[in-house]
Amino acid sequence: MRRTTECPGCGLELPVEPAAPEVPLNASKECAAVYAEVSGFEFQHPVMLRYHQLSVDAYGAQHAGPPTTPIRLGYSLAGLWLALEHGFSGDEVRAVHAHMGHAQDWWPTFEPPTGPPRMTVRDVAEQGVRRGSSTGHATATRAWAEAVWGGWTAERPTVAADVEELLRRLFVCEGRQPLRGTVGPAGAVYRLVGLLD
Ligand SMILES: [Zn+2]
Repeated sequence: MRRTTECPGCGLELPVEPAAPEVPLNASKECAAVYAEVSGFEFQHPVMLRYHQLSVDAYGAQHAGPPTTPIRLGYSLAGLWLALEHGFSGDEVRAVHAHMGHAQDWWPTFEPPTGPPRMTVRDVAEQGVRRGSSTGHATATRAWAEAVWGGWTAERPTVAADVEELLRRLFVCEGRQPLRGTVGPAGAVYRLVGLLD
């Protein structure tokens, strides 16, 4: 009888938990239960809610592949790119997500990296909720998100350009205000939130 299970998304090996609920993600239910623990800690402490979007997106990007949907993956990678490369806050990322709509046929197909993850949600749990540390949670969440994004960019060097192209096609179109006074991709995309008014 198997006593442990390996998460198909992040590789995390955990004891089998028959009671853990199934999730519609490319994740073991035991891994998803650890994420639920981390997420619950964020909701318990309002000061940590600012990290919630980052953890949602890090988890989504680290569990690519069916049954994780293309929309969840696209949103997650866009969220990581906006937050980590361009300093968007969780609220700003949410505002962008709210206007991204459903995944279309033309959305890029993001092929997930295959290298072993440097961090998983368990690291975040151990440094945060399991020792009751909001500071540990904040630091670990940021490091985890950076590690997940770094895993993508190391193996899939076009991922940032693909995300940028996706957002440009969604937000820079006829009938929208043109992007004015922007320099380079960072400046251009930083104005996305302004375009959403
Ligand atoms: Zn996992």
